[in-house]
Amino acid sequence: MHELSIAQNIIQIVNSSVEQDKLALVDKINLKIGLLSNVLKESLLFSYKSITENTALENSSLNIEILPIKIECNNCSESSTTNDFIFNCPICKSNSISVVGGDELIISSIQLKTKAAEK
Ligand SMILES: [Zn+2]
Repeated sequence: MHELSIAQNIIQIVNSSVEQDKLALVDKINLKIGLLSNVLKESLLFSYKSITENTALENSSLNIEILPIKIECNNCSESSTTNDFIFNCPICKSNSISVVGGDELIISSIQLKTKAAEK
């Protein structure tokens, strides 16, 4: 299952970038996922939840931002983005385009809970 290995990967990255005694403070892991990466958001959330259960990361969650597909026109050289799979240049309507992005899978940031200020 694709999403399960992605979730395991995310956990590995979090483990290596956050100090061990701060893992329980991890609140949100912000991800950017390209539309072309074929990741099912719900499935990734579910996988993450099930493998972090009863671990230091059990209170953390994934915040997923889907990135559009980036295309570049071979005719007029304009770059644009699209959210559907109809690849046409929006400027000159040429269908000679190259896909230049949209398969990303990036952890953009890891947010830690800050302890409530003592009064
Ligand atoms: Zn064009």
